[in-house]
Amino acid sequence: MTERITHWIAGASHGQPAGRTGDVYDPAVGTVTGRVELADAALVNTAVAVATKAASTWRLSSLSRRAKLMFAFRELLAARKEELAAIITAEHGKVLSDALGEVTRGLEVVEFACGIPHLMKGGYSAGVSAGGVDVFSIRQPLGVVGIISPFNFPAMVPMWFFPLAIAAGNAVLLKPSEKNPSASVWLAQLLSEAGLPDGVFNVVHGDKVAVDSILQHPGIAAISFVGSTTIARYVYAEGTRTGKRVQALGGAKNHMVVLPDADLDLAADAAVNAGFGSAGERCMAISALIAVEPIADELVNRIASRMASIKVGDGRRGCDMGPLVTRTHRDKVAAYVHDGVAEGATLVVDGRNISDIDGDDGGFWLKPTLFDHVTTDMQLYTDELFGPVLSVVRADSYDDALALVNANPYGNGTAIFTNDGGAARRFQDEVQVGMVGINVPIPVPMAYYSFGGWKASLFGDTHAHGADGVQFFTRGKVVTSRWLDPSHGGLNLGFPEHG
Ligand code: NAD
Repeated sequence: MTERITHWIAGASHGQPAGRTGDVYDPAVGTVTGRVELADAALVNTAVAVATKAASTWRLSSLSRRAKLMFAFRELLAARKEELAAIITAEHGKVLSDALGEVTRGLEVVEFACGIPHLMKGGYSAGVSAGGVDVFSIRQPLGVVGIISPFNFPAMVPMWFFPLAIAAGNAVLLKPSEKNPSASVWLAQLLSEAGLPDGVFNVVHGDKVAVDSILQHPGIAAISFVGSTTIARYVYAEGTRTGKRVQALGGAKNHMVVLPDADLDLAADAAVNAGFGSAGERCMAISALIAVEPIADELVNRIASRMASIKVGDGRRGCDMGPLVTRTHRDKVAAYVHDGVAEGATLVVDGRNISDIDGDDGGFWLKPTLFDHVTTDMQLYTDELFGPVLSVVRADSYDDALALVNANPYGNGTAIFTNDGGAARRFQDEVQVGMVGINVPIPVPMAYYSFGGWKASLFGDTHAHGADGVQFFTRGKVVTSRWLDPSHGGLNLGFPEHG
């Protein structure tokens, strides 16, 4: 039996029986478990019309009401997060503990959004001019905003955006990844249970047709996109061309630099966790490890010995790492492993040997893979693999390592492992990357800071959540008022000077 996964519009599931559908898999089993409806332009129009109407009244709701809604949503989500984690694991494949971690990081943004009355405060300057002239600034919602999200965090990435968008008084149209769409519908139901008025949060499933309809729609004021760099660049160009505010977060190739004075056990643990957690399908995964000599041999040994204990299998069975998201993606990453050998890299651990998987034979399996002596001209290094493949590149000095990181077209996350505070401080200053870890491999900022990369990892000026998120989902207005003295010196056609 396959489940039909429908859109969510106006506070209810919204079927489109005659339309196209896409297959949704259980990646640990390899079978189709759902068919997701794929929206056409007419369906996007319907959703935007509903959201526009809802936004016109939601923006008038009090800050207290919006804050209370977020608190209620937070309580429901915290109480039922295991349900959501199970849905994520069933369609994404990541292990349950990792799925729970994803929900927790999303919850942090909900908690941040509970403070919306404080976050939307403006400034006030009393008496800027004689006669009781005051100036103050306010922030107002944009209207209807679109969120387009990737497969790898089906709950957390939407939650980077919609709590703040809603709390700021906007209505939302979420277009989740068609590979794992069920988490978003579950979140929509929970928002309704928390008391969100119908139409403020809508889910439209789909592929390029839906995305293009969102990009073209004049009723959508802003778009938060997360996905691969090619699509991020396209969404940014098209969205801004049609006059929208756009933040488009793209792909990554995150480097971890290990200096010779680092704690090598700490670095080896970190490399394994950040390289193979979630099967490497994280935008903050470490995929290139720059070992600054003379420690490379020793570090590679320690990483390889740890990899032997990683249990790969069905995410519901207490394993450390699950399958890849689709068969196509698994085959693509496995092909990189094949080509890496052909290109001359040293294959230290070959993850294509899957004889001891704790899961169904039909699952999309690829075990952790380690390459040494990778050079910067190899595809292993130049491409974002988005799989459990860690490449060790050897460098002769801190300067060489830094130059490698800075020459990379991506700039999402990076990390340095060292016991030298001066070197760490130089790195945090000199590296051209948006999120930096010092003895921390995956430096994902807390919700009250903003998440975002540089260069080809983000198009637009604002990062996700934190102060940037509030800024993105609101626009400023400055009011100059005069109440005490209605006279302003009579007729004067000159530009007014404040006295
Ligand atoms: P993707 O680019 O294939 O898809 C992202 C979204 O775009 C999906 O909703 C998808 O339906 C839509 N889409 C796909 N092809 C399209 C097209 N031709 N035209 C219009 N829309 C299209 O990305 P993915 O495979 O779902 O996710 C993995 C990618 O996301 C990786 O590159 C990863 O680094 C990146 N990512 C980045 C961040 C970040 O914060 N920078 C976070 C998570 C994931």
